[in-house]
Amino acid sequence: MKPESWPQTPEPVGEADAEAVSAQIGRPIRGARAVAWRCPCGRPAVIETEPRLPDGTPFPTTYYLTCPRACSAVGRLEGGGAMREMNERLEEDEELATDYRLSHHDYLGRRARLGDVPEIDGISAGGMPDRVKCLHALAGHALAAGPGVNPFGDETIDRLPEWWRHGNCATDQEADR
Ligand SMILES: [Zn+2]
Repeated sequence: MKPESWPQTPEPVGEADAEAVSAQIGRPIRGARAVAWRCPCGRPAVIETEPRLPDGTPFPTTYYLTCPRACSAVGRLEGGGAMREMNERLEEDEELATDYRLSHHDYLGRRARLGDVPEIDGISAGGMPDRVKCLHALAGHALAAGPGVNPFGDETIDRLPEWWRHGNCATDQEADR
């Protein structure tokens, strides 16, 4: 799918957003800085997260995909073998490998603007820069950064259904597959 609103300007996490995300992930959110991408249903789907949580824990997943229905849809892609095929292309296609390395640096650059956490220096997310290991992290990055920044994140989003159309984005209750 092509999101109707992508990229978006990050928004502060309001009280209703914090409640919605806590319901989505099943526990209180920690270290939420901004809603980086809001689902067409109105709920947050990607949360920009502090690189260090309030209890001091380093948190490398700066762009955290919280929408359970989006997460399930991404999980189905992973389960269908999408990552193996992406890794094969990554090994063969130099231009793609270069773009993916740039994605890694984009991720680190965005995080550096939020704070300096030496424990996760040089560590981005999703397997970047050499492997594709988690499409949730790559899709979260792409939704936050906008198209053209993370090739595998863009591709993941492109392959997702419009998950908000049938069912409730607050939970993983689905009306369709
Ligand atoms: Zn939604």
